[in-house]
Amino acid sequence: VPVSRIRNFSIIAHIDHGKSTLADRLLQTTGTVSDRDMKQQFLDNMDLERERGITIKLQAARMNYTASDGEKYVLNLIDTPGHVDFSYEVSRSLVACEGALLVVDASQGVEAQTLANVYLALEHNLEIIPVLNKIDLPGAEPERVIAEVEEIIGLDCSQAVRASAKEGIGIDEILESIVHLVPPPQDTVNEPLRALIFDSYYDSYRGVIVYFRVVDGKVKKGDRIRLMVTGKEYEIDELGILSPTQIQVDELHAGEVGYLGAAIKAVEDARVGDTITLAYKPAASALPGYAEAKPMVFCGLFPTDAAQYPDLREALDKLKLNDAALNYEPENSSAMGFGFRCGFLGLLHMEIVQERLEREYNLDLIVTAPSVVYQITTLDQEKIFIDNPSKLPEPQYRESIAEPYVKVEIITPESFVGTLMELCQNRRGIFKDMKYLTQGRTTLTYELPLAEVVTDFFDQMKSRSRGYASMEYHLLEYRENPLVKLDIMINGDPVDALATITHRDKAYNVGRVLVEKLKELIPRHQFKIPIQASIGSRIIASENIPALRKDVLAKCYGGDISRKKKLLKKQAKGKKRMKSIGTVDVPQSAFMAVLRLD
Ligand code: GDP
Ligand code: MG
Repeated sequence: VPVSRIRNFSIIAHIDHGKSTLADRLLQTTGTVSDRDMKQQFLDNMDLERERGITIKLQAARMNYTASDGEKYVLNLIDTPGHVDFSYEVSRSLVACEGALLVVDASQGVEAQTLANVYLALEHNLEIIPVLNKIDLPGAEPERVIAEVEEIIGLDCSQAVRASAKEGIGIDEILESIVHLVPPPQDTVNEPLRALIFDSYYDSYRGVIVYFRVVDGKVKKGDRIRLMVTGKEYEIDELGILSPTQIQVDELHAGEVGYLGAAIKAVEDARVGDTITLAYKPAASALPGYAEAKPMVFCGLFPTDAAQYPDLREALDKLKLNDAALNYEPENSSAMGFGFRCGFLGLLHMEIVQERLEREYNLDLIVTAPSVVYQITTLDQEKIFIDNPSKLPEPQYRESIAEPYVKVEIITPESFVGTLMELCQNRRGIFKDMKYLTQGRTTLTYELPLAEVVTDFFDQMKSRSRGYASMEYHLLEYRENPLVKLDIMINGDPVDALATITHRDKAYNVGRVLVEKLKELIPRHQFKIPIQASIGSRIIASENIPALRKDVLAKCYGGDISRKKKLLKKQAKGKKRMKSIGTVDVPQSAFMAVLRLD
C-alpha cells in the first residue's frame, strides 16, 4: 500500500474504560480476526494481565479496511500499557503513531492517567479522536463527559464518537474517523533506514522479537542492521507484520509497523526507544527521545529456604532476558543470608516480578519493604547513591541525605477531597494546586517524597475514595531532608532487612507503631522475644512477644501417632514464607509491616 493509505494509531484509556473491548471490536469488524478465532481480549495475552485487567506489554495489530471512499487502507493499532510504571513505553508507542483514540467511559469521566497520556500525545502532535464509550449504559452521560474533555484538555470534541464497544455501536464511525482524521505517515522511503523499537520480547527459539515502526527508508529480510544506541549489529532472519499473529513479509517501508527476529540474545540488546538502521548505510542520527528505563523502587528478595538461592538466580536471569528494566545484584544480609537486591520501575512492576517468580518458577520468597534511591553527600563532598536502607552511612560520615520527589496528580469526586488532602499531608506532601472540573470532580496536585508514594499510597488513595480517585505521578528532583535510619532488633539481634529510612519528625512514631505491628505479626515462640526500634544507639520503642504457654503437642495425649504427624504437617505448612532469623521465625508480613502503619 502507498504511504498515503496507512494510518498508525493507538488507544489511550483509563483501566476499565473499554480499550481491550474496543480493540477486539476493531479486529473483528475489519475481519482481521475471524469470529471463530476471537478469544476474549486478543491484545492482553499474558495471563497476569488478563487477571489484573491491565495491559502491561505493548502489542500491535495491522488491519485492512476498505473505507466508505472505496479505498483500501492499512490501519496499525499500537497498544499502550495502562500503568504509570510503564510511561516511558507509552511515550515510545505514541511516538510511533500519528493519531490516538481517546476512549473515555461515558458513565465516568476523564481520569488522571488518561490525562497524562493525552498530554504526552499532544506533545508529539498526535491527532486525538475522542470516543465516548459505554453509551449503552443507563448512567452514560456523553454530553457531560464531552464537556469535561473540552474543558480540561481543551480538545475540540465536535468530531467525538459516541460508541459502545460491547454492543458494537459506533465502530464504523471510529474506523472512518481514523481514516479521515489521522494524518498518513510522511513518505520518507528514500532516506536511510530509521525504525523505532516500541516493544520487544524474548522467544526461546528465535531470540528477541522486536516490534518497530519504520520511520524512514525501508528494511528487507536478510538486511544487516545496526541498533544505534547499543551499536550492535545483526542479520534479519525473520521479518513480518502483526495481524495480530505474526505473518512473514519480505520488506517493510516508511510508515509501516512490523516485527523482526535476528538472533538477538536478550531484550536489553534491543531496547525500547532504540533506532534500527542499516549497517552498511547508517542514518546520520538516531531518532530522538531515547532514554534508559531507570529503576525507581528497590527491594530485597530472599529465598525462605537458602537451598533455593541458585534457583532464584536462574529465574531472575531468565526474567531479565525479557525485561530490560529489571535490575538485580546479589545481596548478603546478615539476618537473611543470600538473596538479591532488585530494582523496579515502580510498585506494579515489582509485584509482577514477584508474582512470576513465585508462580512460574515455584520459588518461596521473602520480599523486603520497597525503598527508593537516596543520595548521600559525604563529609568530603562526594555524592553516593544507596538503594538499601541498611547501607546508609552513620551520621558522623555524612553531611546530608536527599530523596527523590514526585509531582502527584489526583482526580477525585469533590466529596473525597478532604480525606485525600489529609493523606497527602500525612505523607509529607506539599500542596500545589486544586482545580474544580465539571460536576463536582476535582484535581489535586501535590509534591511528595517518592518514598511516601511507594509505601501503600495508591491503596490508601483508593480505599479513602472508595475506588473513585485516580492518580498519576512523575519524577521531579532530589531534595535534602533530615532523614534518619530506623533499626529494628529482634531478640537482641539487629535485622538489617527491617531497617528503614524515615523523616526525623516521624521516626519516633514510626518506630513505636512498627514495633507494635511486629509484635502482632511474629508468632509466639517457646521463649520471650524482645522487639526494639532504635536510631543510632538510642532505643526509641520496645515490646515483648510473650512465650507460648502450652506445648501444642501436649494436646495429642502422647498416643495417637498419626494425629501427631498431621499436626506437625499443619504447622510446617503454616511455616511457609517464614524466615528463621537466629532462633526466631519471622513471617513475610513482618517485612511489609512498615507499609501498613496508618
Ligand atoms: P480496559 O481495561 O480499558 O481494557 O477495559 P476492558 O475492555 O477490559 O473493559 C472493561 C469492562 O467494561 C469489561 O467488563 C467490558 O465488558 C466492559 N465494557 C467495555 N466496553 C463496554 C461498553 O461499551 N458498554 C458496556 N456496558 N460495558 C463495556
Ligand atoms: Mg485491557
